[in-house]
Amino acid sequence: YPPERIRNFSIIAHVDHGKSTLADRLLELTGTIKKGHGQPQYLDKLQVERERGITVKAQTATMFFRHKFQQHEATEKENAPNFLLNLIDTPGHVDFSYEVSRSLAACQGVLLVVDAAQGVQAQTVANFYLAFESNLAIIPVINKIDQPTADPDRVKAQLKSLFDLDPNHALLTSAKTGQGLEHVLPSVIDRIPAPPGKCDSPLRMLLLDSYYDEYKGVICHVAVVDGALCKGDKIASSATGHVYEVSDIGIMHPELTPTGVLLTGQVGYIVSGMRSTAEARVGDTLHQAKSTVLPLPGFKPAKHMVFSGLYPADGSDFDALNHAIERLICNDASVSVTKETSTALGMGFRCGFLGLLHMDVFHQRLEQEYGAKVLSTIPTVPYIFEYSDGSKVKVQNPAALASNPGKSVTACWEPSVIATIILPCEYVGPVITLCSERRGDQLEYSFIESQRVLMKYQLPLREIVVDFYNELKSITSGYASFDYEDAEYQKSDLVKLDILLNGQAVDAMATIVHNLKAQRVGRELVDKLKKFIDRQMFEISIQAAIGSRIIARETISAMRKNVLSKCYGGDVTRKRKLLEKQKEGKKRMKRVGSVDIPQEAFHELLKVS
Ligand code: GDP
Ligand code: MG
Repeated sequence: YPPERIRNFSIIAHVDHGKSTLADRLLELTGTIKKGHGQPQYLDKLQVERERGITVKAQTATMFFRHKFQQHEATEKENAPNFLLNLIDTPGHVDFSYEVSRSLAACQGVLLVVDAAQGVQAQTVANFYLAFESNLAIIPVINKIDQPTADPDRVKAQLKSLFDLDPNHALLTSAKTGQGLEHVLPSVIDRIPAPPGKCDSPLRMLLLDSYYDEYKGVICHVAVVDGALCKGDKIASSATGHVYEVSDIGIMHPELTPTGVLLTGQVGYIVSGMRSTAEARVGDTLHQAKSTVLPLPGFKPAKHMVFSGLYPADGSDFDALNHAIERLICNDASVSVTKETSTALGMGFRCGFLGLLHMDVFHQRLEQEYGAKVLSTIPTVPYIFEYSDGSKVKVQNPAALASNPGKSVTACWEPSVIATIILPCEYVGPVITLCSERRGDQLEYSFIESQRVLMKYQLPLREIVVDFYNELKSITSGYASFDYEDAEYQKSDLVKLDILLNGQAVDAMATIVHNLKAQRVGRELVDKLKKFIDRQMFEISIQAAIGSRIIARETISAMRKNVLSKCYGGDVTRKRKLLEKQKEGKKRMKRVGSVDIPQEAFHELLKVS
């Protein structure tokens, strides 16, 4: 297939508007997957994706399609496919917009899917601008027109007023009933430009993604921008200069299908003896080892918005967790990992994530796919502190900020975001209250149609990391949609909040909070801990403190748990069994100083904002 017979496109949409379902239908329509293959959302391969109904990793599939031109072309066989189409499915959740912009780098156009009943939502706006800024052709698709509440005309008006898209160009579809789907691929061919690369130039190939496969080793997803690549070729990385030999090469159709060659404009995979995904740098330009080329513009590096400590949940298993994390980051290059040590929890890792959902998903994948048992500490955002000696540090772990550092803190900053919220106007009141409780500044307030409002707020990242989205959904009965982009650091008034158990600070429970919220957060943390720490052999005091000032306190009184009291002396085996059982129970505890803390206590602390 020459480039003019190739189209690379992506589907972008607000979550739940039907991207994955539409992708399935297009794969079926082209015979790439069988109809009724029993697994909806074919491209959502991960267990987390299926359970949560979200797409986390962008996936690619190559399809072959017969396009009927207006004039009959005598030279072509009647029904043989004459176009090669690469579809890149993208995640819809805000946390993963990094994956979206990565996928778009390999595309010349997008299908912008909008639910015919719900209309344009916050992520529709965000995704539209990602595509628009990359100069991609945008085909609006109004989906779910089978729904009784569908109102395509209303959506058309929104597309016109918000994005200046010609409403006559919108496709109307139902990915459920199949209505209108026959126009989708012909529109892709007619309205999205062919990939612009040069066939006779030296190879330039963008590394889109990589993952580790048990049998094949590192598999790279690549987009060939210029030139061509064959099996056996020697390629080099622009970033590292390392040279590799291509041992397997092909397309995702939708499973890996060897083709021996990838030509200009194609998207496919290569296996080239890379040892670890650390060598496969996403955004890198690969070229023939013998030639030199100008690297392609890469991607913006992933920005880590949320940090959390990950520790082995039963103490002994550091190596197992280490192994699991190493393996998983092979498939999720957007997580940053450094080793750290906590006095309370021992050896672990400080991980940076794109957002809270990303953190949850990473945690869940570690447990489900790699069998690791993980305990995570209170998430934090990267703050900047300036000390009296003029030095500035970025703090990703609250414990690293000493309560009494000898030098005093003279100023601090916290990261902020610009949030876009779209909602029906009857919910405006409670949402404004929520945003001001979360220390937000309103930047914009406008009607996008008579009953719907778009608001923009500058909010501290810290305030949206924990539970903002859920709260927003609940006060608007699910009608508000939300997205954000990161903005600059703002000057702030921050304090470190310590948790003390029996007078001893537990480093893994320290957090950094805004001064005005310290009292309430301290109280909540202490209350939660009291609920989750069992009575033990001795009295336990739980305190929250800022420096040496105690701001909240609770006590758990002593109790002797005597599991043997019901055994009347004699039965030794029974006694032993009970003691074993008690030991089992203790396994899921963390001993901090002299206090046993159940896993749930740590988990509950995550939810305090
Ligand atoms: P995504 O989050 O954008 O990938 O959305 P999904 O493809 O997972 O679809 C979300 C939900 O909408 C699923 O329950 C689909 O079955 C449903 N859905 C998708 N397309 C249609 C459609 O055209 N009509 C109706 N009624 N439901 C649809
Ligand atoms: Mg999906």
